[in-house]
Amino acid sequence: MHRIAVIGRGLIGSAAARHLAENMDGIACIGPDEPENHQAHTGVFASHYDEGRMTRCGDPTPEWSITAGQAIRRYRDLERRSGIRFYSPVGYLGLGHPGSTHNARCAANGVANGARIERLDAPALRARYPYLSVSAAADGLIESGGAGHISPRRMVEAQTVLAERAGAACIRQAARAVRAASKGVEIKLWDGSSVTAEKALITAGSFTQACGLSPVDLGLIVFGRTVVLVRIEGEIKEVLRDMPTMIVARTGAYILPPIRYSDGHSYLKIGIGHESDPRFTTLGGLQTWFRGNGAKTDRVAFTARSKTLFPVLNQCPAWHTNTCAITQTPTGLPVIDFVDGDRIAVAVGGCGKGAKGADEWGRIAAGVVSGQPWSSEVSREKLSFRT
Ligand SMILES: Cc1cc2nc3c(=O)[nH]c(=O)nc-3n(C[C@H](O)[C@H](O)[C@H](O)COP(=O)(O)OP(=O)(O)OC[C@H]3O[C@@H](n4cnc5c(N)ncnc54)[C@H](O)[C@@H]3O)c2cc1C
Repeated sequence: MHRIAVIGRGLIGSAAARHLAENMDGIACIGPDEPENHQAHTGVFASHYDEGRMTRCGDPTPEWSITAGQAIRRYRDLERRSGIRFYSPVGYLGLGHPGSTHNARCAANGVANGARIERLDAPALRARYPYLSVSAAADGLIESGGAGHISPRRMVEAQTVLAERAGAACIRQAARAVRAASKGVEIKLWDGSSVTAEKALITAGSFTQACGLSPVDLGLIVFGRTVVLVRIEGEIKEVLRDMPTMIVARTGAYILPPIRYSDGHSYLKIGIGHESDPRFTTLGGLQTWFRGNGAKTDRVAFTARSKTLFPVLNQCPAWHTNTCAITQTPTGLPVIDFVDGDRIAVAVGGCGKGAKGADEWGRIAAGVVSGQPWSSEVSREKLSFRT
């Protein structure tokens, strides 16, 4: 019997498994690798099948800033010890507008957590980023130091390498069911076999609810998201050479600079989440979404917005979409709590921004499931499913 089984080997689960394995024996990490062919895949998917996630300390909500700050400070150590590079500190630009408090709140929380912040008016923005078309009323927030982007795929790989090196058993398949048994927890696997553990931590992201893994209703809403990627080649690569990661406060658009993908090409990515995005409650619905190309209306709208903000993109001929899912919680923060006595805990609810601080959310979750004293500035009550 394992001491603790972590179910879900994504950004939060692989981090939790590493933190646990580096502090105790008997850790199992249960979760499949990314499928080679998404369209033909009949199992579960994940929200980390990509090369770019924004990372920064500045966030309008203190808890996201605190956890991002803690995690960012450990990226280089994770890279060094695993031998896997996943972090590019290219900076962050928040584009605000009159009446928006987004940049001011990001600045206050960012500074409190060690970020270097600079504010720019429209003329200064145009001078610094000549490829951006911004209005005369725009205001900019630049975060430098630790802000930039991470490869979520490679971060999961790095955490997995370190967890295994520290002794964790990695079981590369999905769980069908998790239930408290007379002694500990029984986990039924996709192939029909079972494993047992004294305790379990469920970290299956947007599939937690659809797979029926939590014994209690966590009030999660799973939204399907569409992203648009534009291939950046030739001279345009040079034009966008110093591009930071970006958020446009007016639309909520997040934009990542050109990043190299496994097909050898570099893509700039844009996404915008909205309340009318499709919601999923069933496994079949989520699987179909992940196999697809997303919403056509989003492709049209995001393409137009990108071309307006970056006129140079009008010269790019190759655009495509991809799908992902986010897991929204009732509080807007992850739920990290026991859901069945002191045996089954969950760490779910990235709320569309769980990548940057995943190592810290994983550390907090590892502490909860292993019964350690609370050791985060984020209050335990705020992460409870009862809140
Ligand atoms: C389009 C998009 C853009 C985003 N951009 C950003 C960003 O810029 N910055 C940022 O910080 N965050 C961003 N996020 C959010 C971030 O990716 C998520 O918050 C993060 O991936 C959540 O981590 P997780 O471990 O909860 O879930 P995941 O990373 O999805 O991991 C869940 C894991 O559970 C596994 N699993 C599923 N079902 C089972 C099962 N039954 N048994 C076992 N294992 C299972 C999956 O295989 C997966 O490995 C974005 C999300 C999306 C969709």
